[in-house]
Amino acid sequence: VNVLIIGSGAREHAIATTFLKSEQVAQVFCAPGNPGMQASGIQTVAIAENDFEKVALFAEQQPIDLVFVGPEAPLASGIVDFLTAKGIRVFGPHQAAARLESDKQFAKEFMSRNHVPTAAFASFKDFEQAFNYAQKLSLPVVIKENGLAGGKGVRIVKEADELALALRESLQKSDQILVEEYLEGEEFSLMLFVGGPKPVILPISQDHKKIYAGETGPNTGGMGAYSPVPHITDDIIARVEQTVVKPTINGLLRENLMYAGTLYIGCMLTSEGIKVIEFNVRLGDPETQVLLPQLESDFYTAITDLIAGKNPQMVWQTQDYYLGTVVAAPGYPDAPKQHIVLPILPQNVFYAGVSAEEHRLYSSGGRIFTLIARAPSLKEAQNSVNTALKNLNLNDFYYRTDIGFRDID
Ligand code: ATP
Repeated sequence: VNVLIIGSGAREHAIATTFLKSEQVAQVFCAPGNPGMQASGIQTVAIAENDFEKVALFAEQQPIDLVFVGPEAPLASGIVDFLTAKGIRVFGPHQAAARLESDKQFAKEFMSRNHVPTAAFASFKDFEQAFNYAQKLSLPVVIKENGLAGGKGVRIVKEADELALALRESLQKSDQILVEEYLEGEEFSLMLFVGGPKPVILPISQDHKKIYAGETGPNTGGMGAYSPVPHITDDIIARVEQTVVKPTINGLLRENLMYAGTLYIGCMLTSEGIKVIEFNVRLGDPETQVLLPQLESDFYTAITDLIAGKNPQMVWQTQDYYLGTVVAAPGYPDAPKQHIVLPILPQNVFYAGVSAEEHRLYSSGGRIFTLIARAPSLKEAQNSVNTALKNLNLNDFYYRTDIGFRDID
């Protein structure tokens, strides 16, 4: 069979590679993909991720047996509805369910209706009302622009005299904002594959959102990840299943929002229990790059089982740790410098923002690639990644050397 992945990042490279391991899969295409993927046997197709007509035409002509959508934007625009209406098999939420990620107010109201624990909140279009509400909350206060902002639409206000300005700035960027209670605690995420009678919990992974070591500096798309995560114990996972996953799944079913796809639950472990910060409806990047290599069973069978509404059989390795570090262009995240030539990279790399010219790869984006390693301990995995990166002499590029630090002595 043939599989088509939508997207162009290192996450999509990891997804495509996992499908290539399946004995049933003959060819894996990626639209638009990136030229770094080609060396792994993935065929890139020059179709933009939001050009649904062309995606459908390509899928019909090949033909494609399964489309797997990586990023959030085409999901929010309804790619799943569009392809399904044409009889094309596709993995991902339909547009109504994708609002759980693209529309924060909708997500919060869904949580309230379905008794999914989350931070107290209210939504506003008007400054005076927002200010009145925010003043009643204790500091810090969280302000969020509604809509997809790639993690950049969230402000945490710590001082009372900064509140008014922060609210005004957010209201300038978005007609609707959410004002939320601040949750104190440890953040972690849980990724599920839903669609079957019972959701499949994927191995726990932890990303690193900040640009600098020790989780400092501005937010990014993600600078690295590791999996599994020793400090998220089986007991915590059992509690999330009971208090968060159960009411969420029941809510999806009750509200006719169930789909075959990924549900990513961003959680905070607070003194009052586990609370949900956000839902995403697709796999995380860079978490996917350390997650999917752990799958030992057939990915194509699992995904098509989920689409058929069955419980898939998914077997994950349990011996080792996976750790991945993102290499970014200098100047990332504000102004990544473009067109820097890349050295020849090893096999354990998933490519993202790269372009090709005369058989060489150049940087063409913020995050350029993720290099991963597998080892019996996190320390060894981190050493292995850092040694490999050091030997590549990536002078012009930027990366963190402390990925996994919370679980490494
Ligand atoms: P992304 O999709 O990149 O995670 P987003 O734009 O969807 O970001 P959120 O996930 O809602 O926004 O918030 C981004 C980050 O802000 C969270 O990962 C968390 O660290 C912090 N945050 C959000 N809401 C709260 C809250 N109520 N209390 C404490 N921290 C919060």
